[in-house]
Amino acid sequence: MNHVFGPVHSRRLGRSLGIDPVHDKTCTLDCVYCQLGATATQTRTRRAYVPADAVAAEVRQVIDTGQPIDCITFSGTGEPTLNSDLGRMISGIKAITAVPVAVITNSTLLHLPEVRADLLQADLVIPSVNAVSAEVFARLCRPLPGFDLSVMLRGIELFSRSYTGRLWVEVMLVRGVNDAFEEIRELARFLERVACEKIQINTVTRPPAEKSCAAVSDSVLESACVFLGPRAEIIGSFAGPSAALPGSDPSARILALVRSHPCTLEQVCESCGLDRPRARAALQELLSRGTLETADHGSRIFYRASGR
Ligand code: SF4
Repeated sequence: MNHVFGPVHSRRLGRSLGIDPVHDKTCTLDCVYCQLGATATQTRTRRAYVPADAVAAEVRQVIDTGQPIDCITFSGTGEPTLNSDLGRMISGIKAITAVPVAVITNSTLLHLPEVRADLLQADLVIPSVNAVSAEVFARLCRPLPGFDLSVMLRGIELFSRSYTGRLWVEVMLVRGVNDAFEEIRELARFLERVACEKIQINTVTRPPAEKSCAAVSDSVLESACVFLGPRAEIIGSFAGPSAALPGSDPSARILALVRSHPCTLEQVCESCGLDRPRARAALQELLSRGTLETADHGSRIFYRASGR
């Protein structure tokens, strides 16, 4: 499998089969909190980074195994809407299966009518909105020169009005960057104009691109939740029972998992259905092969794909 990974268990999405339609950390942004590390290719150019037919073939292969899947999720190692064939991929998957399709996006291309049209076909869209003031957004997400935040915000608003699927806005809070009262108040004002079902508040729970980047406290998360109103909820890191491909060896399960979600030993055990000795042995083997590396975050050790 080159473009499809998992399924992995996600608290928000259940057993989620991931699709990576861009690869190699190709993104419009270079967020300080990114769990995938520094952006390798920062671009606004939409193109067919990954062929739609190849994605559909891999999804079909997993569906044919008959294992339970709750959601097919475009996320992976970059910004999914950069793939100009996203709409074709979604419709191709919908022709194969009735499993709902979700897209997690950083919202930067939502001002483009063709991107909004692609996303209209998804059952669930999760766009990020982390700040509404240009200076804060620039410090947090480091967009390319010429980026206009007001255009992005308008795109989110427009999309929310035309979209009939489920829309959950995600807000990532980083200590000392976008957690000020004024910023959250302005964000709440903006989100009043966005027709979404949920506002999910997150913080830095995995090793970030910039070591100085830290999580906000529980009390800040709770205050933000109150500010953002009844649609808001605090989300944690994923955890849950095994949803790994049956028959795959422990190393393959772990690799599928940590490719887009750096994990602690406990999270690897939970999500891959492995006991600690087996998980440890597989992690050691992957570390010695150089496929995985470790990263410290908040006094915990995370395992992630090498080179992040
Ligand atoms: S957090 Fe998302 S939007 Fe930001 S750099 Fe990483 S992949 Fe891109």
